[in-house]
Amino acid sequence: MIYDYLIIGAGISGAAAACELRDHGTIALIEAESTPGYHSTGRSAALYTRNFGGEIVRLINRASHGFFQNPPAGFCDTPLLSPRGLITVAVPGEEETLAPIMNQSTPDTAIDMLTGPQACDMAPLLRPEFVGAAAFEAGVADIEVASLHQAYLRSFKKSGGNIVCSMRVDRISRKNDRWHICAGGRTIVGRILVNAAGAWADQVAVLAGADPVGLVAKRRTAIIVDPPVQIDPSRLPAMEFADSDSYIKPEAGRLMASPGDETPIEAQDVQPEDWDIAVLADWLQRRTFIEVRRIEHSWAGLRTFAADDAPVVGFDPNIKDFFWLAGQGGYGIMMAPALGRAACSLILKDDLPDDLVSLGVLKDDLSPGRFTATMSA
Ligand SMILES: Cc1cc2nc3c(=O)[nH]c(=O)nc-3n(C[C@H](O)[C@H](O)[C@H](O)COP(=O)(O)OP(=O)(O)OC[C@H]3O[C@@H](n4cnc5c(N)ncnc54)[C@H](O)[C@@H]3O)c2cc1C
Repeated sequence: MIYDYLIIGAGISGAAAACELRDHGTIALIEAESTPGYHSTGRSAALYTRNFGGEIVRLINRASHGFFQNPPAGFCDTPLLSPRGLITVAVPGEEETLAPIMNQSTPDTAIDMLTGPQACDMAPLLRPEFVGAAAFEAGVADIEVASLHQAYLRSFKKSGGNIVCSMRVDRISRKNDRWHICAGGRTIVGRILVNAAGAWADQVAVLAGADPVGLVAKRRTAIIVDPPVQIDPSRLPAMEFADSDSYIKPEAGRLMASPGDETPIEAQDVQPEDWDIAVLADWLQRRTFIEVRRIEHSWAGLRTFAADDAPVVGFDPNIKDFFWLAGQGGYGIMMAPALGRAACSLILKDDLPDDLVSLGVLKDDLSPGRFTATMSA
């Protein structure tokens, strides 16, 4: 069989693109691991906010919001977003560091200034002596990542899509205008190749004969700890700190905390470093009433960035029928609905969906051509 589309990578990006393309041809969604979502998609902090990332990321997040709030009928039984809110805390004497955050307040995404006592009422696990003031963004929400990912995969399968797991593509060739992707003696053939391989996207490009776009995978560490007694974590907002990269958020009755590390590292099944966890535990005990007696669980994941921090979505300028869907950084879950639609629209119509265009996103903002010299004819 010759598929119309081969998609490498069944994380949130590949799954969203597969779902959006499902009525436009035959598709094989190919995943190296035995379970889709094993890498970055299954390791995120699961937050949605319009105010993370650079300008392009924010516009894409904005374009995803409608889908999160009103997914297509029958897509998912449970809400994809639940209200969380986010406070960004400034230490006493450094309240002015909140000014850039307050400047992002719009009627759509209101951000309110809280006094120190107000912030501590909202987040009583914070040690008050370190809370001068805080910025509160009510519109930040938790994303039901597993539900979203599974719903994309389910919709794709329902319309006849083929998910092939445990196939780590290690050879790609092109014969008679068709891609042949191979692993362990298996070959799958298709017309258009979509590279949704996350941290491995540059490696997949090289296998296909394309130039890498210079993606950098960065490790981020997270731990799960118990909240202080008498604090109900489900009522807490997510917490960021103007003087630190660390953050804390409620997670299934406990607390997730991260040092906000961004250590460049080769694409791999990344694991946390003891040192990062120890530094985080010490910081938590100094700044909050959390007593880190036992770390319930720890993990690390990769956030993969292009040089300008915007995603890389579009046909390769030099390699025919090779499409990029990569470089989602730390925002790939919240961008997935809009990027899935963007990928589908660029593949079928060579243009972005109207809503992204009217928000001001240009094809060139996402194109891999911004990093790759075009070969002269
Ligand atoms: C700690 C942490 C916190 C984060 N917090 C947030 C957040 O709050 N909100 C948010 O929106 N985003 C967040 N992110 C970012 C988000 O998780 C990623 O941007 C997103 O998951 C990327 O999805 P992906 O499908 O592109 O990559 P992945 O989920 O990594 O999927 C790529 C897949 O490609 C497969 N693959 C690679 N090479 C091959 C090959 N040769 N053959 C076959 N398959 C291959 C891999 O096995 C992998 O499953 C966070 C990330 C981390 C690590």
